[in-house]
Amino acid sequence: MELGVPLILFIKTEPNVLVPVHPVYVVADDESTQTFVIALDEEFRDIADPTSLTEDQRRYAVRTARQRLHQPVFRGRVIRAYATRCSICSLAHGRLLEAAHIYPDSHPEGRAVVSNGLSLCSIHHAAYDANLLGITPDHVVQLDDDLLAEVDGPMLRHGLQEMHGRALTLPARRQDRPDREALAFRYEAFRR
Ligand SMILES: [Zn+2]
Repeated sequence: MELGVPLILFIKTEPNVLVPVHPVYVVADDESTQTFVIALDEEFRDIADPTSLTEDQRRYAVRTARQRLHQPVFRGRVIRAYATRCSICSLAHGRLLEAAHIYPDSHPEGRAVVSNGLSLCSIHHAAYDANLLGITPDHVVQLDDDLLAEVDGPMLRHGLQEMHGRALTLPARRQDRPDREALAFRYEAFRR
């Protein structure tokens, strides 16, 4: 804390699974309770008393925590539930995988829980969020009609069009599988 050294915070999401968050800084400590306060953002290093924030600072802190803590934990849990594969194309490169929200983040039901997530590679995540690709509540992948009719190179043909009609690969654990109502909600948006 005195040297202002950036640290890596490891969050234990499951036994033997640690999600790193960095850089973080220790900004206050309380010797009597042996606890300390971690800032997730450089901005909080200059605050005189980090243990009593103004309303604005508190709002910013909550938003930062969401981005810096909750999102990486969500990503880690979702990708792990799907055995580090894209649920549409089975691509197995962790660094190319993302955790997609089914109910979007902004929706009241858009909680960062595994059953509201899908492990998708970057291209399928983007296509899903752009409603160029839909997933039925019964886990079947559907492509936008126009996209399906287009003629172009191998990414369109193999990466997207050949996914039409494929069934999602689901997590082994039942409680990790995508919520049916959430899928139905998003599928409706795709249909519209
Ligand atoms: Zn994919």
